[in-house]
Amino acid sequence: MKKIIGMTFPKQDTNLGLEPSLLTVLPSGDNVMYSMENIDFNDEEVEYYACSVYITGMREFKEWASRHDKSKIIVGGYEPTINPQEFVPFAHKVMVGPCDDFYASIAQEGDIINGITNYKRIPRYDLYDIKNNQQIIPLKKRDDIVTSINTSQGCPFKCDFCCSPLMCDRLISKPLDLIKEEIEFLKNFNPKFVFVRDENFPLQIDWRERLIAINDMGAKIYLFASANLLTEDNVKFMKENGVYMVCLGLEDITVDYAKNKKLDEVCDLLHSYGIMVYLSFIVNPLKVKTQRESDKFYIKLISRFCDLKPEMVCGNFLMPFRGTKIWEDYKDLVKEEDFDFYNSKSAFLEKDLVNRTRMEYEMFYYQWLYYNSEFYRDNVRDFHVGDTLEERFIELRREFEGKENKLVLGKSLLR
Ligand code: SF4
Repeated sequence: MKKIIGMTFPKQDTNLGLEPSLLTVLPSGDNVMYSMENIDFNDEEVEYYACSVYITGMREFKEWASRHDKSKIIVGGYEPTINPQEFVPFAHKVMVGPCDDFYASIAQEGDIINGITNYKRIPRYDLYDIKNNQQIIPLKKRDDIVTSINTSQGCPFKCDFCCSPLMCDRLISKPLDLIKEEIEFLKNFNPKFVFVRDENFPLQIDWRERLIAINDMGAKIYLFASANLLTEDNVKFMKENGVYMVCLGLEDITVDYAKNKKLDEVCDLLHSYGIMVYLSFIVNPLKVKTQRESDKFYIKLISRFCDLKPEMVCGNFLMPFRGTKIWEDYKDLVKEEDFDFYNSKSAFLEKDLVNRTRMEYEMFYYQWLYYNSEFYRDNVRDFHVGDTLEERFIELRREFEGKENKLVLGKSLLR
C-alpha cells in the first residue's frame, strides 16, 4: 500500500516544538506517517504528501516540491490559506483553512479547496513521539512530559497585527465528547503539563465543562485568555480546576488595547489565587530605531513588568502578515527574502543589520535582566531552578555572549 506522508515546513524545531497541527489533518490508516526530516522520498511509493507550510518554510517547501510529483502534493496551513494562488504551481490541491477530513477535502473539484472539518476523530498523536514536545514553562524540567489540546479553533476578534483570524475568523468549538475522547488518549502519556492551544479559552460558552474535562488528565494546565474575561469567579474556578499558568497578551506597550483595560487588576487576581502569569509583548522595530527610543521603550516595559510581576515573559518583534490590517503600512518594508525571518525573534523591519542586531540583543537582554533581578527573586520567584525557562535563557545568553558589560550596567534600571 502506498504511503501518505505528512511534513511541516519549516522543519520542526525539536527544542521548542509541540505536536504539529498537521496531526489533525492526517487520515486514519497504517500507511500514514509523519516525517520530521523533510527529506526526499521516492514518489513511486507515495500516494500523497500532506504538507503544512508556515511563512518561514516557504522557500524550503518550494525547493522540496520542485523535486517531487506535483500530482501527489496537498498543501495547507497558514501560508497557503492566506496566499493560495502562490502555491498552485507546486501542489495538486491547495487547502484553505482548518481540516480534519483529508479525503473529503481533497475530493473537491479545483486547485484551491476549502478544508473540511467534521469533528469525528482525534488527531493522529500515535504518529508523533511525545518526547519531542518541549515547552518553556516555569518549573518544567526537560524530561517532564507535556502535551497539548485544542478545544476550539479560530478567533472572532481582529487585532490589527494578528494572523490567527486569517486561518479561521470564527470561534468554532469542538464537540465535548470528542474532547473527552482525546483526553482519554492523552492520559496514556501521563503528562505533567498540558497546554491548551485555543486562542482565548474562556471565550467559549461552555469553557468550564471543558476545563473540568481537561483537568481529568491530572496535569498542570496552561492556557491563553484575555484579561477582560477573567473575573474573580472565573479565576477561582480555574484555580480549582488545575490551571497553573495563564498567558495574557501585553502586546505593544505604546498602544492601548481595550482587552487590556483590566490587566493590572487581573494579574493581581491571578497571583492571589496562586496562578502564574505569562505575558507576551510586541516590539515594533520602527519604534526602537535609535538607542534613545529603545532605552525609553524598555524602561517603560520593565516598569510594566514590575507592576504586573509576570513569572514568564516573551518578546516578539512585530511581524506584518499579508491579509492583516497593518500589512498596508509595512508592505514596502517586506521583501520575499524577509519571509525566512518571520519567527518573531528577528527585527527584520529594520534594514540596517548593525541596528537590527542591537534590537535583537536588547530584546533578549531586558528579559534576562528581569529574570536575574533582585526584584524578580524577591517579588516573583527564584529563576535559578534548572527548568526549561532558565535553560532557554542560558542558551540565548550563550548566543549573545560577549556583551556582558551591558548586562551588568543595565541592572540599575530595575527598581
Ligand atoms: S491577538 Fe488574540 S484576540 Fe487578537 S485576533 Fe489574535 S488570537 Fe484573536
